[in-house]
Amino acid sequence: MSETIVFKVGTSTLIHETGRLNLQRMEELVEVISDVMNRGNRVALVTSGAIGVGVGKLGLSSRPRDTAGKQAAATVGQCELMFMYDKMFSQYDHKVGQLLITKNDIADPRRHQNLVNAFEKLFDYGAIPIINENDAVAVEEIVFGDNDSLSAEVAIVINADRLIMLTETDGLYDSNPFKNPEAKRISCVERIDDKVCACAGESTSSFGTGGMITKIHAAKRATEAGIETYVIGGSRPKDVYKLLEGEDVGTYFKAVK
Ligand code: GLU
Repeated sequence: MSETIVFKVGTSTLIHETGRLNLQRMEELVEVISDVMNRGNRVALVTSGAIGVGVGKLGLSSRPRDTAGKQAAATVGQCELMFMYDKMFSQYDHKVGQLLITKNDIADPRRHQNLVNAFEKLFDYGAIPIINENDAVAVEEIVFGDNDSLSAEVAIVINADRLIMLTETDGLYDSNPFKNPEAKRISCVERIDDKVCACAGESTSSFGTGGMITKIHAAKRATEAGIETYVIGGSRPKDVYKLLEGEDVGTYFKAVK
């Protein structure tokens, strides 16, 4: 049965510590997503990485702290990111469309409707919508926003069946797996409560803005809208096949029906 699936990929999955693109990772991700589309599913991709890639491309020694610096890096990085997605998806005969959106595009009813229409048309044309925040103008989004919540909003806008977030760890653990070798992966979360949030800690990488807690908040928002949500390891995009077969990979957050 064909489904509507939103993928979300984070900065730390897409780029090396040098700030340059992880081409092997990106290739694998694009191949898997293309194959999921070839099976007849409608797919949207929410991608981070604009600021991170911009930092690498501009040769900056670290991520700028000031807003103008982040904006400038995002504009440069977004071009590079889309250029690579366009090139890679073309290899599999898929077309991409870029949507740079802000919170207002979701909150304002008229803009929201325009967004729905644009998505619908892109799906009709068989193209894959690739979404990021419009970092160059959405100043408050750079400071407060994160693409995990954006991916949940996109999933709701397009009435998705599933939201799959690819990240640094291969799911939610009962304690920080980078610090505690005994940490255990949680396969399935029936209900997102304070205990689940406590497992998330405050993990962040040097390139992205999220962490596990923003994924849990996104999962809460999406599951409450009836969307099955998953957090899986970004280093193994092929786990998506297992997930779609119902195998136990990452963490599955059950939709609240
Ligand atoms: N929009 C930001 C970027 O593309 C990323 C936000 C996030 O990491 O969640 O760099």
